[in-house]
Amino acid sequence: MVKLFQVDAANIGLYFYNQDDETSERICASCGRPRSLVGFPERHFRLRKERADWGATYDGQMIITERVVTFLQAHASTPFTTIKVNRRPAMYALKLSEVLRFDAKTVGTRFEDFCTRCGEYATIVGASPPAVFTDEKIDPMGIYRSDLIFACGREMHPIILVGEGLQKILMEYFRELDFEVVRMSDPD
Ligand SMILES: [Zn+2]
Repeated sequence: MVKLFQVDAANIGLYFYNQDDETSERICASCGRPRSLVGFPERHFRLRKERADWGATYDGQMIITERVVTFLQAHASTPFTTIKVNRRPAMYALKLSEVLRFDAKTVGTRFEDFCTRCGEYATIVGASPPAVFTDEKIDPMGIYRSDLIFACGREMHPIILVGEGLQKILMEYFRELDFEVVRMSDPD
């Protein structure tokens, strides 16, 4: 069976979504949960210096450099798209289209603050240690996101998962990344 890893990067000290804007169309006006996972950042988002090739915003967007885009185009076997979010230095938000089912039961994930306006939970916590069902099709060179999004309100985001082949070369190229092995569990 292919081993799977969760990927994390250090925080770049910025929010992707404007935390004060109550009128943003990208979030639920009642609970703040994002309506879509990656949009264009709001106008305040501005990165003046490249700190690392991979960096996360406080609200969970993965921001990458041109080098990472080229790297993933060359090595990743699964489709992904990027949105240019910063001109100079050129930075991109990573949008993953392949989704893996997260095993919330095994991990003990808690679903709280059900929002009647958007019909979703505004708080989903407990994603560690991560677990994914074994019946998911995983390519060793694939990069995926979890079906569930974690944290609260505006900070909710999926976790990023990679197959063991991709993890191995990512680890060599990008020292700033952290990896955690994912538990594979049998579906009921
Ligand atoms: Zn809501």
